[in-house]
Amino acid sequence: MRTRSLAALAVGAVLATACAKVPYTGRRQFNLVPDAIMNGLGKQSYASMLGGAQVKKSGRESEVLTQVGRRISRVANKPDYDWQFSMIDDATINAWCLPGGYIGFYTGILPVLQNEAGMAFVMGHEVGHATARHGAERLSQNLALMGGLAGLELYLAGKEKMTPEQRGIVLGALGIGAQVGVMLPFSRAHESEADVIGVMYMANAGYPPAESLDVWDRMAAQTGGQPPAFLSTHPSHEKRKQVIREWLPQARKRYERNKLPGDTRATLWGR
Ligand SMILES: [Zn+2]
Repeated sequence: MRTRSLAALAVGAVLATACAKVPYTGRRQFNLVPDAIMNGLGKQSYASMLGGAQVKKSGRESEVLTQVGRRISRVANKPDYDWQFSMIDDATINAWCLPGGYIGFYTGILPVLQNEAGMAFVMGHEVGHATARHGAERLSQNLALMGGLAGLELYLAGKEKMTPEQRGIVLGALGIGAQVGVMLPFSRAHESEADVIGVMYMANAGYPPAESLDVWDRMAAQTGGQPPAFLSTHPSHEKRKQVIREWLPQARKRYERNKLPGDTRATLWGR
């Protein structure tokens, strides 16, 4: 009896995970990796990403990052996340959020963000990849190569080392493969979904949502039509702006209700 009910419980848990819904878009998704495992992978990957990095512990950049991070994490409403924010001194134009709420921004992206609202959008976008479980969806497709869930659990328990290939699959699925030479950018569908969630998060946090369009314009100008590696399969510039514009009226209403005092579009970081 006991084993049978345990098995029923396990099946229930897998089905609940498999039938998860994406925030705002409502898309139903199929994924086999439970949040607890994804968050564990996020935590471990965060430690390894920060290992060789120059993290700024003080100064204006990290203060603004923490302030924006507190606001975005509040509206993302993920009580099981262990939110952490690191400003990394590195010229790469990049930012990421790992499952579990582990966020890294590179100083190289600051001139593209230009202001607090711009940072709020990109953070909302990256957090959107995590809360929409895009990494879990991608890892689900490669689960057999990892030895299934049991393989991931052994890894998290520190009982089994991963091969470099397996490590590449995990980091690639989490969207930080470019940093370790594994190119696995998010799909166009995931990118547009993260844009929608990012615009809604920033508006709920009190930032003007139209800044999102300006951020992508500055990104296109800055990178001269050659997108940085982590954006390399992003939708075309016009397509992504079109998707954002469809959501702007709804985002504006949320912004009007939650508007922050002061000018969050004032330039903090120029060229
Ligand atoms: Zn993205």
